[in-house]
Amino acid sequence: MAAQSVVSTSAHTTSASTSADTSHPVDLGPAAALSCRECGHRVPLGPVFACQECFGPLEIAYDFSAYEPEELRRTIESGPANIWRYAPLLPVPADVATKPNLNPGWTKLVKADHLARELGVTGGLYVKDDSGNPTHSFKDRVVAQALEAARAFGFTTLSCSSTGNLAGAVGAAAARAGLRSCVFIPHDLEQGKVVMAAIYGGDLVGIEGTYDDVNRFCSELIGDPAGEGWGFVNVNLRPYYAEGSKTLAYEIAEQLGWRLPDQIVVPVASGSQLTKIDKGLRELIELGLVEDRPYRIFGAQAEGCSPVSVAFKAGHDVVRPQKPDTIAKSLAIGNPADGPYVLDIARCTGGAVEDVTDTQIVDAIRLLARTEGIFAETAGGVTVGVTRKLIDSGALDPTKTTVVLNTGDGLKTLDAVAGTGATATIRPNLDSFKASGLV
Ligand SMILES: *Cc1c(COP(=O)(O)O)cnc(C)c1O
Ligand SMILES: [Zn+2]
Repeated sequence: MAAQSVVSTSAHTTSASTSADTSHPVDLGPAAALSCRECGHRVPLGPVFACQECFGPLEIAYDFSAYEPEELRRTIESGPANIWRYAPLLPVPADVATKPNLNPGWTKLVKADHLARELGVTGGLYVKDDSGNPTHSFKDRVVAQALEAARAFGFTTLSCSSTGNLAGAVGAAAARAGLRSCVFIPHDLEQGKVVMAAIYGGDLVGIEGTYDDVNRFCSELIGDPAGEGWGFVNVNLRPYYAEGSKTLAYEIAEQLGWRLPDQIVVPVASGSQLTKIDKGLRELIELGLVEDRPYRIFGAQAEGCSPVSVAFKAGHDVVRPQKPDTIAKSLAIGNPADGPYVLDIARCTGGAVEDVTDTQIVDAIRLLARTEGIFAETAGGVTVGVTRKLIDSGALDPTKTTVVLNTGDGLKTLDAVAGTGATATIRPNLDSFKASGLV
């Protein structure tokens, strides 16, 4: 999206909003309005997510007109070591860093030379390791944006439909902010995710169904008086939430020395993260913060939930829903809202969308741990596994700078690597150790 000068940002009410207090002026920094991704129809900032004209998704439109590249870069570089260094590019008030929140982001960009050698990458391979966030997944980035929107719109309960990581991130953010939380997950998630979602003291509801059932339930709740005053971070606050993924793009470029990577491999659940990483990279070009050169974006899915990669390979524009069956539960969204945009971005940038089997996911988790000392959750196994597959097929160019995302922590998905354990168990004496064959 282009830098654009826009309308005033004050005092809006909106008919389709979900019952929050919008009587006071909304200060979300450079965010000027909501704009439909499909038809461009603009509406004032509010807790709405679908266009009234065409039902397309609403996105944040900004006023970046006052920014000058050198000055903006200096402002960012002197900012805090978290996502708020990019506050001038996000839908948050200027004083956001002073409010109680989890201060996520500025995670490590690890130069993965051992993994590169193993995969045959010569152009520089990096792992953006988002397991280092406060609740150990990338979701803290998006929740932090939604929290500011919830505050701005006067919501008192923070909620979400989640494949696991989001529920934990919402619970923690609400605890820090002093809000109530009530989050919804499929009942059969990994124990690590369930505990993470419950430990922060909010309410956690397991639903007997898939994530897509959970999501449908939440949409119903939003339309009901029972959902009055509730901010669902990934439903009625989705336009704000989604912008948090741009910070991954900003950080990667800044950590590479204000340079775009040639190739980036991103996991795909709903497709929001991939879509907004692309938006973030384009903004950096339009703001003059990086040199304008081509980059390619690759999407990664698990074979057991691969609606987007199946559509990509078949050359389709529409994504046919699937019923998920994979160990990569954080990516198990069978009906991905942003699937068509992922297809579009992969095709326009010269990327691809690929999938790997559960066995390949586990192999990739082990490979990343063994080569770089990074213990990824299943979603990280998906991106590393897909990277390997794309190199083997020639879709990914091993001579180019490549960034692979690890979006979550392996401690939350221990079942995936069950059976990993001691090389030997011995009696506490030297003879026993020598007999083990390890010396
Ligand atoms: C939520 C999530 C993603 C990406 O989700 P999108 O819905 O595509 O934005 C990726 N990795 C992990 C670990 C997640 O929890
Ligand atoms: Zn529209």
